[in-house]
Order: sequence, then structure tokens, then C-alpha cells
Amino acid sequence: MGVRLEAVCRRYDNGVTALDDVSVDLERGAFTAIMGPSGSGKSTLLQCAAGLDRPTSGRVVLDGQDLTGLSERRLTLLRRRRIGFVFQGFNLLPALTARQNVGLPLRLAGRRADPDGIQRSLAEVGLGERGGHRPHELSGGQQQRVAIARALVARPAVLFADEPTGALDSASGQDVLRLLRGLVDEHGQTIVMVTHDPGAASYADRIVTMRDGRVAA
Ligand code: ADP
Repeated sequence: MGVRLEAVCRRYDNGVTALDDVSVDLERGAFTAIMGPSGSGKSTLLQCAAGLDRPTSGRVVLDGQDLTGLSERRLTLLRRRRIGFVFQGFNLLPALTARQNVGLPLRLAGRRADPDGIQRSLAEVGLGERGGHRPHELSGGQQQRVAIARALVARPAVLFADEPTGALDSASGQDVLRLLRGLVDEHGQTIVMVTHDPGAASYADRIVTMRDGRVAA
């Protein structure tokens, strides 16, 4: 099911229309890249698709669930259970080990920090032996892979990534992209990635190009 946006508009209070009647199907089991120049609405699209921001009008249907009209509480629960997020800056907690960082979403959701599930996520990103390391003891690419393991630990319906290779050198960036590609090919993970890098987008099954708040033809 993935994520479907239907006639989504997002107008900010300053009068800027960041999304102007966007309809797009981010397919389940596929790797979709969202490209476009700065200011074209990529981040806003990602935020609306992930239930972090609300459209001014239109609907977002995530994994079969219409997000329109959900309370903040329901939306937060849905994000915790159904969505994984990876950012350019990794956003790991420096005082926690890789294992503790990966377990954090489960703890926030009030679930048991299942050691097997955490270990499985770390192994999936190739860091099965690094669970005891803190972020400063890992390379940038490894830190991003810990962040991906953290995003996967709740087995999300959709993994959203906002410029996940933006802070990495090209070799580590390619490792991360190959990892994302493998999650789609081997586990059928649905991934939606914002990037301005055509090389990164080439790992995707499909590229959605944004221009002035609209999907370019
Ligand atoms: P991109 O990710 O492609 O750079 P954004 O989605 O961040 O584009 O921004 C789209 C447009 O919306 C831009 O004109 C930007 O200035 C504006 N915008 C983004 N966020 C806000 C906000 N919180 N308040 C007002 N305008 C915003």
C-alpha cells in the first residue's frame, strides 16, 4: 500500500504554497527518490507523507490508513509504530551505545527493548559486532547505519530518509545507498528518500521530481 497523497496542498502562514495539488503514489515495496531544486517542496512532501505535518487540504493515506483528522496522539502512535525516519545528521544520542540508540524507539513506544530484535536490526545493517560502541567510536557511514537500524527496529511500513548521504563521503554514501537498496530487494521494505544528488537517486526504482510545489511531468 505504501503512501498515497491525493490532491495535497500545504500552504504556510506566510502565504507560501509549498505543495500545490500534489497527487502521488509512493508504492509499497519500492524505493522512491524525491528530487527537485531547493525550495521545490521536497521536505514538505516528506513531512506530510510521514504524518509529521498536516496538509492544508487533500488526503494522505499511509499503509491503508487515512491520516486526515487523526488526533495528534493517534498520529504520534502511528508514527512510532508504522514509520521509520533517517536524517542527514544521523541524530544519534552520543551518550548511548549503538544498541541503546537502536532500542530507543521501542522504549519511547513503551515496548520492551527486545534484545533479539535490536541485534537483528544491527546485523541487517552490517553492524552486528558494534552494538557496544558509542557514536564517536564509529565512522559517519557506520553512524548512519546505526540510525537505519534504529529506524527499522519497529519494522515500519515505510522508511523515510531525508538526504541520508548528505553528510557522508561518496564511498560511505554508496555503502548506505546499497544498504537501502538491499532492504527493498531482500525484505520488500518501502523506502522514500529525498535527495538532490542524481547519483543517490539512481539507486531508486522511481524518481518523483518536484518543481514549484508540484510533481513535474
Ligand atoms: P525543499 O525541501 O525542496 O527545499 P521545502 O519543502 O523545504 O522545499 O520548502 C518549500 C517552500 O516552502 C519554500 O518556499 C520554503 O521557503 C517554504 N517553507 C518551508 N517550510 C516553511 C515554514 N515552516 N514556514 C514557511 N514557509 C516554509
